[in-house]
Parts: sequence; C-alpha cells; structure tokens
Amino acid sequence: MATKDEQQPLHILFFPFLAPGHLIPIADMAALFAARGVRCTILTTPVNAAVIRSAVERANDPFRRTTGAVAIDIAIVPFPDVGLPPGVESGPALSSQEDRDKLFLALQELREPFDRFLSENHADAVVADSFFPWSVDTAAKHGVPRIAFLGSSMFARACIDSMLRNNTVEASPDDPDAIVSLPGLPHHVELRRSQMTDPKKRPEQWNFFQSINAADQRSYGEVFNSFHELEPDYVEHYRTTLVRRAWLVGPVALASKDLSVRGTSELSPDADRFLRWLDAKPDGSVVYVSFGTLSTFTPKEMRELARGLDLSGKNFVWVINGSDTDATEWMPEGFAELIAPRGERGLTIRGWAPQMLILNHPAVGGFVTHCGWNSTLEAVAAGVPMVTWPRYADQFYNEKLVVEVLKVGVGVGSMDYASKLENRRVIGGEAIAGAIGRVMGDGEEGDAIRKKATELGVKARGALEKGGSSCDDVGRLMDELMARRSSVTVDV
Ligand code: UDP
Repeated sequence: MATKDEQQPLHILFFPFLAPGHLIPIADMAALFAARGVRCTILTTPVNAAVIRSAVERANDPFRRTTGAVAIDIAIVPFPDVGLPPGVESGPALSSQEDRDKLFLALQELREPFDRFLSENHADAVVADSFFPWSVDTAAKHGVPRIAFLGSSMFARACIDSMLRNNTVEASPDDPDAIVSLPGLPHHVELRRSQMTDPKKRPEQWNFFQSINAADQRSYGEVFNSFHELEPDYVEHYRTTLVRRAWLVGPVALASKDLSVRGTSELSPDADRFLRWLDAKPDGSVVYVSFGTLSTFTPKEMRELARGLDLSGKNFVWVINGSDTDATEWMPEGFAELIAPRGERGLTIRGWAPQMLILNHPAVGGFVTHCGWNSTLEAVAAGVPMVTWPRYADQFYNEKLVVEVLKVGVGVGSMDYASKLENRRVIGGEAIAGAIGRVMGDGEEGDAIRKKATELGVKARGALEKGGSSCDDVGRLMDELMARRSSVTVDV
C-alpha cells in the first residue's frame, strides 16, 4: 500500500528568466507536467506573470471543473527596486545598456524571494532558468534538486559548451571573418568569429556563460524543449561525452491549451482578420515573417526586408515589432500598394500575433525567423521550412542546426552577432528574396527542404503522443523524482 507521502502529487517549482521567450515555454511545460498529475508553481514578478496568466488559466480549466482546484499556481513576488521605471520588468521593454544592467541586478535580487519560497513550501524539484546560476546553491541549501532550463536546443547548448571549454574564439585570428571550429561535437561545426560571443569584446557575457555552464553541470540535470528524433546525436553526446543528465520534453508548445492567447494577455485585436486573410490564400503560398520578442530592426534593415518580400513574389504576413520605427522611415515606394487594405499580397501586423495558429495554417509555406529556439521549434512542429536570419544569443547555432544538420532551411547570410542595442551590417533585399525563393520555390532544392520539414513535423507531433519519446521522458523524470522522494523519506 502506498504511504501518505507517496500519494501526494509531485510539486515542481518553475523559476523562469524574465523574458517572454523563457516564460512561454515554462508555462507550456507546466501545462504538460500538470496534465500528468504534477502540482506546479511558477514563481515570477507581476508584469511577467501577465505574459503567462491566460495560458495558465486555460491549462487550469479542466482541473477546476473536475476538482475545484488548480494544478498550476503563479506565485508573484515584487519586482526588485533597482531604479527601472514602473512596469519595466523584462528584456523587451529595455531601451539602453544602463537599463539592461539594472535588469541583471534585479535578477540577482530575486535570490531572496526564491530562497524564501523554498523555506516556506515543499517542492520535489525546481526547474530553474540557467540565467539564475545561483539557484543551484539555493536549491541545494534546501535539499531540493535543481533541474536547469536554458530554453535552447541541445545542439546549441553543446556548441556553447565546446566554445567555452576550448576557447577557440580567442585563439583564432583577430578578424571578424576568421573561421572558428568547435571541437568535440558529433558534427564538424564552424562559424565566423563575428557570429560568436567574443570574450575580448564581451568579457562580462563570457564570464556569465561560464558561470551558467558550471551551475548547470552541478545541477541534478537539465530539461530541454526538444525531442530525441530532432537531434539524436546530441542526446547521445550529452549523455556519453558530457556525462550530463537530460530530459527532452518538447515541443512544449504542443501542450498549450489555447494557442490564440499563448504568451499574451492581449492578443492583437486583428487576429481574426489575419486568419481569415490566410484562409483566402492557396496552400503553401505565404511566407510568415516574425522575429520574436527581443529583436529590433533599423529602418535600413526594414527597408531591405520590405524590398526582399516584394522581390520574392510571394504572399507574406510580417509581424512588425511594436518598438520598430514608423512606416515613413522605412517603407519603400510601392510597398503600401502590396499590403492590405490597399493590396492583396501582404499583411503587416503590429502587436502580438498568434504565431502557433499562423504557422499551422495550411497557407503558410515558409517562415523568415531570427532562429529564437521557441520559434524554430514551433516551425519544426508545424512542418514549415525556414529562412534563417539569426541576430545573437544561441540563434547562430540554431541556424546551423536548421540549415546544415536538419536541412530544413536556407540562411539570408547573417554575419554579425549583435544585440538589439548594437549595429550590424545590412542584408540586401536581393539576398532575402533569394533565400525565400530557395525555400518556397519550385525545383529540387525547395522540394527536398519541404519534404524534410514535413517529415520532421510528423516526428515532432509524435514525440508528445502516448509512447512518444518526449512523453516517455516526462514519465521518466517524474518516476525519478518520485523515487528520490521515497529514498529521501527513508534516509530521514
Ligand atoms: N510570439 C508570438 N507572437 C508574437 C511574437 C512572439 O506568439 O507576435 C511567441 C513565439 O511563438 C515564441 C516566443 O514568442 O513562442 C518567442 O520566443 P523565441 O525563442 O522565438 O524568440 P525570443 O523572443 O526569445 O527572441
């Protein structure tokens, strides 16, 4: 007979980094775990809680109806007073380096409420963001296993590990076009120096990554929003070469209970109109263009992108980030005639787009993406091939995975690792149109890319079905945590 302790559901505390690209997959992951009987708490600050509240509410609906209780709680802690204006609590709202530094200070100060939560509540495990490296010690203090979540692909994580361990960046010639190899990986991977985190230019970031890597290695294990069939060589590499424990539980976006409100409290009021516009277009004829929540484009870059969309001859939906400049600064002549309401070829969206609904619409046949990992995996799950335009963070590695390993995309030729506060070389409209044409056009290359993308989409959806690899990994993790609970209870 099960003891009283064994009957209690597992309780997992989720502690995401303060950015939509981390909060959204964590809310999805909580929905996935909750559906398997785990009690989940997500610890975050008020503005960040608003990003995931609708998704959490939807995930809780069935539990509320059947048991009257919720399976996922959001525990809200005040945003630390670090001198940021009220309401500025995450990456997309930052407009200067000074504010960015303040945000990083605030992240340190979240240590105290995280510590307090673990003192006052029992948790069987914490899924803590890798961007909180100190959480490994706080969790250890409370005897709680810390499972790290960076929100990246296993491929990118392994590349970053190789880069940090071997430091082939600094050893390469001091030339942005120098080719840097990443040794010890299952594939031969090389990038230009200008596409990587350069320890000379960004010593603080370099040291931060080192501390992340060290903390993640000391953790109980790591959880990935990915699935075995996507990057099997890297699952093996992680387990046998790096000797790190990992569970792959994605694509977590497929666990979302309402795709129209995922990641927002405020869906663009025009969302229905976009979907009706797509309904009127032939299958596979529309290229979807969106760059996540943190990437911004200069007027020159936007102008070239608009020219590229025009030159491509394809229909398009382009999500223009709210903070990007006003149309008079970038719109090339004739572009207004292409887009609704004046034209039929394109649609521009300001505000939050229902990305999962758009990517899964049959009219969409290609995705111009910055290769943020959530967007990349969402495209994989939808079977949509990609035109890759990485900007910074892990995005250049994700591009390598998409273009060279999986062969489900073509790059526009992005060369410069630069955050939204830095400049980069402008990519011409012809290059953008050329990459769209290779992915969506007639001919052998496009056919092969689309076939691979469709096959991967089937595998992605299968991973979360009963008996699928990610479904099994969730079960394996739950069993391990339950067994750990019993052994800890016996030891005491
Ligand atoms: N997203 C969305 N609608 C938008 C913009 C973004 O649904 O208008 C979602 C997208 O589906 C993804 C996340 O926001 O889940 C962005 O994460 P990603 O890792 O792609 O990029 P980041 O914003 O972290 O650079």
